[in-house]
Amino acid sequence: MAVNPFAAAVRRAPADRIAVDTPSGSLSYGELVARSEALAQQLEASSGPVLLYGHKEPALIVGIVSALLLQRPYIPVDPVIPAARMTSILNLAQPGAVVATSPLPSAFLAELRHHRIPVIVLDPLAADLMPVPGHCPVTVDYAPEAPAYILFTSGTTGVPKGVAIPYRALWHFTRWLLALRPLWPGHEVFLNQAPFNFDLSVMDLYGALLTGSTLFCITRDEIASPRVLFARLQGAPLTVWVSTPSFARFCLAERSFAQELLPNLRSFLFCGETLSSVVACALLERFPEAEVWNTYGPTETTVAVTAVRVTEEMAGGEEPLPVGWPAHGMELRICQPGGPLCSLPAGAIGEIVISGPQVALGYLGMDPGGEASGFVRLSENRLAYRTGDLGRIDPPSGLLYWHGRIDRQLKLHGYRLELEEIEAHLRHLPGVSDAAVIPVLREGQPDYLAAFLLIDPPASSELAAAEGIALTAWVRQRLSAVLPSYALPRIVQRIDTPPLTPNGKLDRRALVGTLRT
Ligand code: AMP
Repeated sequence: MAVNPFAAAVRRAPADRIAVDTPSGSLSYGELVARSEALAQQLEASSGPVLLYGHKEPALIVGIVSALLLQRPYIPVDPVIPAARMTSILNLAQPGAVVATSPLPSAFLAELRHHRIPVIVLDPLAADLMPVPGHCPVTVDYAPEAPAYILFTSGTTGVPKGVAIPYRALWHFTRWLLALRPLWPGHEVFLNQAPFNFDLSVMDLYGALLTGSTLFCITRDEIASPRVLFARLQGAPLTVWVSTPSFARFCLAERSFAQELLPNLRSFLFCGETLSSVVACALLERFPEAEVWNTYGPTETTVAVTAVRVTEEMAGGEEPLPVGWPAHGMELRICQPGGPLCSLPAGAIGEIVISGPQVALGYLGMDPGGEASGFVRLSENRLAYRTGDLGRIDPPSGLLYWHGRIDRQLKLHGYRLELEEIEAHLRHLPGVSDAAVIPVLREGQPDYLAAFLLIDPPASSELAAAEGIALTAWVRQRLSAVLPSYALPRIVQRIDTPPLTPNGKLDRRALVGTLRT
């Protein structure tokens, strides 16, 4: 019987090593394995994906490991996700069980009862989980094509898309990642900044679990208070920093963010958005003993498919910085945007199309290779993914450079957003006949969103009367029922006479000029 390498790695780690360190407590590998076995025994009665509801409680990692032991896909759902979005996720993923480490909203709980989905509620440390005496450890024949996890990203229509990642892709990604630089198995401490519903967290979670090392989680509340955050970071034994570049920029504002604060830190791993030369230079200067790595990739191809170590010379000279060389076994082509999958001449800018073992199984409920999905079927039933990213492969070095998007997807402080999705929700508000959302830039990067609304004259009296701050508050409050807070526009403005392009569409560029801040 083939053994699942992820489950095997967690079981192999010395029992007394710290696996997870969070503000609500820590778990050793011994505790993690025993509690995960016990949870797996309880979950065995159900089938299908396991929805994990919580933020960064150690018990959430117990949930993840129990799903690995059972080889059942897990779906991490953070409590900031509004109930309506959770219902969409529920309908698409049809989980067989829910494990909650944070209190479930009553509307969602009612929905789960309605669908007869069993709910297991755990305390933050899952301390009351005791293995049933005499029960054998859970063993399942390893199936590399089985989905390991499902992550939901924003979709242009307003319905989130569930990306299913098989073990084959996760294994390929983690082997490549861990071979990028020498590691000291069992002694590394990985920073976990991203919540587990973002695929950046896969980098630190599996970096730690596969090497029997520690995952050091920082929570949303800690990040909201720099004083609390820096008190926790002070002298923390972190060796590998995994975050978005936005979060590193935020930390750099604090003067104490330097090698003395984190004396063991040896690498920064970035992914998910542009790493600027300014941030890279500042980190290299303040952390003389650490390497800075830029990596690139979408959730649909398992976290990252390229990587490069950013040297001082690179950081001092080039803008944009390269995003790296392809991972072993991955193929990156630069093609005509939306055109055939043949490569453009060397050095040309075009759409980045990715194929190879890290490509996902597709989106839940969508035909992979169908028109609506970005996946394309190649020969032998392999899939490629059209990223919608523009890129260029530098001919002499073979390095990939990222040159923006062909569509309106963007990264706002590290969060992936589809502006069409926000506009679709705005058009559903009573009295709104059309809407446009634009990113407002600061130092060339999206800083916040502004929404412009065309309001029908017989609009609901509440909306018709609202202006300025009141209008913004009215809209944000309603949108927060369907969108997470990072997707809410900071400013909402009414448009009296819509500026139009020559072909009669709303002229978004002209709207920026009308912004009253
Ligand atoms: P996500 O699926 O949330 O990881 O977002 C993937 C998208 O983030 C990619 O398609 C790119 O648009 C962007 N992205 C990822 N890594 C980088 C990078 N190193 N530099 C610039 N953009 C990036």
